Amino acid sequence: MRYLILSDLHANWEALTAVLADAKQRYDTILCCGDVVGYGADPNRMTDWVRANTTITIRGNHDRACSSLAGIEWFNPLAQAATTWTHRELTANNRAWLDGLPAGPAEIDGFAMVHGSPVDEDEYLVSPSAAVGAFALQETPLTFFGHTHIQGGFEQRRMKVLRFVPAALGVPVTIDEYAAYLVNPGSVGQPRDNDPRAAYAVYDSAGRTVEFRRVQYDIETAQEKIVEAGLPLMLAARLRIGS
Ligand code: ZN
Repeated sequence: MRYLILSDLHANWEALTAVLADAKQRYDTILCCGDVVGYGADPNRMTDWVRANTTITIRGNHDRACSSLAGIEWFNPLAQAATTWTHRELTANNRAWLDGLPAGPAEIDGFAMVHGSPVDEDEYLVSPSAAVGAFALQETPLTFFGHTHIQGGFEQRRMKVLRFVPAALGVPVTIDEYAAYLVNPGSVGQPRDNDPRAAYAVYDSAGRTVEFRRVQYDIETAQEKIVEAGLPLMLAARLRIGS
């Protein structure tokens, strides 16, 4: 089975449509590691699409906050402004659906999906030392995560944890059965690894490969919509630099 792994879409419709055009024919089913909404200007359109098209979606911290406003006091001012705007904008039906999303881990076909880490849905796995605890508690040798908006992840081999960087885009990475992996497909809607292109991954469970991809999208339109919505201008500006 080939899984299209999406994460951190953040209501960026232009980024999603570019990803889907690029991923065409490369997958059988779609999974999402959370943060469907928050930051971007198309929360209902994005939620409707995710509801209709993904097999499993894990809740992200922004999905939780935008639907219920829970934990918003921990957000920075930019995220707070976007969260209250999104909360108002979402239909009651989409708000209820986002509020009911399951926290990870969710297991499917021998691997797992989480938003932050297998230990804590709000944890940022940004360094090998942070990943050590996650490897100790993950129940499958392969977990897909999001939350950091950084494509790549971590590999544990003979108790050593190393950063796992996509060697070359479009060249599948083989998942070694003697190692364990925490893999981030990258963010569709708000990349933060200094590459503004939308990010995603495809996992082939039969071939045990992960292919990382990046796609150019219509950043200008996504930016214009953010400005027109009255969302903070910084949220539009950061899409251009990918951070
Ligand atoms: Zn996010």
